[in-house]
Amino acid sequence: MATPTLSVVQGSNEYHDHSQNRIRKTIDNLNADKYALLELANKLHSTLELDTLITLFKLDITPILNLDDVYYYLPGETKQKESKGRHLISYQLVLHKKELGEITLIRRSRFNQKEQAFIEKTLVTLLAPLNNALNYQQALNLALHDPLTGVYNRLAMDNMVAREIELSQRNDTPLAMIALDIDFFKRVNDNYGHAFGDHVLKQLTECIKQQIRSTDAVFRYGGEEFNLLLNNTNLRGAQELAERVRKTIEQTPFTLDGVTINVTASMGISFFKENDSARDLFKRADDALYQAKSSGRNKIISKW
Ligand code: GH3
Ligand code: MG
Ligand code: MG
Repeated sequence: MATPTLSVVQGSNEYHDHSQNRIRKTIDNLNADKYALLELANKLHSTLELDTLITLFKLDITPILNLDDVYYYLPGETKQKESKGRHLISYQLVLHKKELGEITLIRRSRFNQKEQAFIEKTLVTLLAPLNNALNYQQALNLALHDPLTGVYNRLAMDNMVAREIELSQRNDTPLAMIALDIDFFKRVNDNYGHAFGDHVLKQLTECIKQQIRSTDAVFRYGGEEFNLLLNNTNLRGAQELAERVRKTIEQTPFTLDGVTINVTASMGISFFKENDSARDLFKRADDALYQAKSSGRNKIISKW
């Protein structure tokens, strides 16, 4: 009788008993069975959404290691306070020298050597899909933001207005829009140059951002034209906000290379009415803005 030959497949408890043409496998999760890893890798490669990716990873690894939580931090993101009385294990995730962030696993008991080896093997499957998701997120960011001021662009505005209208209808909450245009901006460029004009656009964006809530969105939808979308905001709230923005711009010295100028802006406000399309909402804000311009500038007009 031939001596049975046993081959051990690295990284798993898989024994091939060739003499009996039989494969005996020990399924032990903690050995990171390579088929389980392959399955996980396939699952992780199925999404480019960062949140979904981390959730898939978390769902897979949590029951195996009996984790309390898994935190993922983007590169450079501030870490949360770490929980007391828990054991944590953190890994810096790096792929081809590119930082992909940090992942922290948390539970009540210590992570032993065998578990650490398992975690490390499992994390390797996360690296490539994570890199893809981060690249995708970066591409989306570039596509939806204005490179000069960093605020959302017109494409983002079209998407977000449609979504906010839907939410406003579903939850029966007010929605306001402010169209803002800098007064006599052509003169700024003509008198102080295009670079000064660009600087004014950036500084003015900061004036707007100072005044709004984190749930409000700012868009630059044209050269010196901005749009503010205010969810959960009634007439009075939008008018107060617009007035604060108007005043801040008026009182801010815009300075570049020792030259200081003053700038003003005009605004039109519209409110969402039932059956309004995104276009209707925008059109009324734009009409109101036009009225603010033609009746003297540096002022705010509201239109239902
Ligand atoms: P009004 O008060 O009627 O709005 O007058 P205005 O001069 O602001 O309006 P107009 O539409 O005549 O001019 C807008 C100017 O904005 C013209 C253009 O040169 C300038 N502009 C548009 N985009 C940019 C930009 O990205 N950078 C700079 N520096 N200027 C820009
Ligand atoms: Mg304009
Ligand atoms: Mg203008």
